[in-house]
Amino acid sequence: GGTPPGATDVVIIGAGQAGLSVAWHLRRLGLGPGVGFVVLDRGPDSGGAWQFRWESLRLDDAHKVDDLPGMREMGLSFATADAARPARDVVRDYYERYEQWFGLNVLRPVRVTSVREEGTGLLVATDKGDIAARVVVNASGTWARPFRPYFPGASDFRGVQVSTPEYRAAEDFAGARVLVVGGGTSAVGFLRELEGIAASTVWATRRPVEFVDDPQGGVRAVRRADEAARAGLPLPSIISGTGLPATEGNLAARDRGLLVSRPMFTEIEPDGVRWPDGSFEPVDAIVWATGFRAELTHLAPMRLREPGGGVRVEDGRAVREPRLFLAGFGPQASTIGANRAGRSIARQVVARLRADEGEVR
Ligand code: FAD
Repeated sequence: GGTPPGATDVVIIGAGQAGLSVAWHLRRLGLGPGVGFVVLDRGPDSGGAWQFRWESLRLDDAHKVDDLPGMREMGLSFATADAARPARDVVRDYYERYEQWFGLNVLRPVRVTSVREEGTGLLVATDKGDIAARVVVNASGTWARPFRPYFPGASDFRGVQVSTPEYRAAEDFAGARVLVVGGGTSAVGFLRELEGIAASTVWATRRPVEFVDDPQGGVRAVRRADEAARAGLPLPSIISGTGLPATEGNLAARDRGLLVSRPMFTEIEPDGVRWPDGSFEPVDAIVWATGFRAELTHLAPMRLREPGGGVRVEDGRAVREPRLFLAGFGPQASTIGANRAGRSIARQVVARLRADEGEVR
């Protein structure tokens, strides 16, 4: 709860892993009373996007959440959380206790509608009033912007189509012939829980699927995302570099034919999908687990888009705007990346505030 202040030094947009990590590091660097920050989140509860994940999602081999900085000193760790509880409940509870323990000043529900330059600072417009800020840290995540690739005929499809954020439970697809699209962990999770509940499943992916134990895959994927962010290019998906985990469950599901993918179809017809070789698969539902884009619409007045289609970000800093940081963006789009972002961005924010004071004097 709470009402947004009319002015503060730092506004953090989003109380997910990235926003909370930045807030914790700012506290540690001495921000609080005097030099202040506030975290705004439009969600009803703690948990960032995790509070909206589907009920059956668990923290397990496929979904590991890194502990937030300082969480151990509270005696909390995701590694020892009750694996039987839905991930959305575990993360919501832990974040809530974390926000309170460290006094992270999260105001919700507050929706940021735009950020623009005003005077020497930035003006953050919200549905609860405007806030003048010296520095803004955007940590708004991707959940509200699922990406659905275009296919001819999609709007004439007679069945059900959902994207990952709309997926509720396998039971919603009982007895249906389901097509799952996408090569990531979410697609694999959906296929595995639809097995035996849906009448049948088909899996389509852009690239051939690989189940690998490759500890370096994540490092390579993060590096590729970092290069794209620095160049202002569209971001590659992290999973496209890491491959899928070769867990016992995944390998067994592959061997019994469940996790065997087909290449992408090229057309959607009212009752199914068609491949370029003419083959047709009748389906009743399409689940699009085809990734996300960064949600940056509220930053449109800042004109950050490059001709290449992306936003130039170096080490969490918007290259075009020294008062704006993007946490959890591109190479930082994992819980471990978001944690690291917190430390680096908080330091840069403090340096920026100091430089700012130097300019004023
Ligand atoms: P979010 O958790 O999305 O937080 C952003 C917050 O900003 C939200 O609370 C939102 O309400 C708020 N917000 C957005 N716009 C506004 C606005 N205009 N005004 C006010 N508030 C706003 N990563 C892992 O490391 N391990 C995993 O197991 C894992 N599993 C995943 C499973 C799924 C299905 C998905 C989609 C992603 C998964 N990820 C995982 C990636 C994961 O989402 C990130 O690692 C991390 O949780 C994202 O944190 P964040 O703070 O960047 O974003």
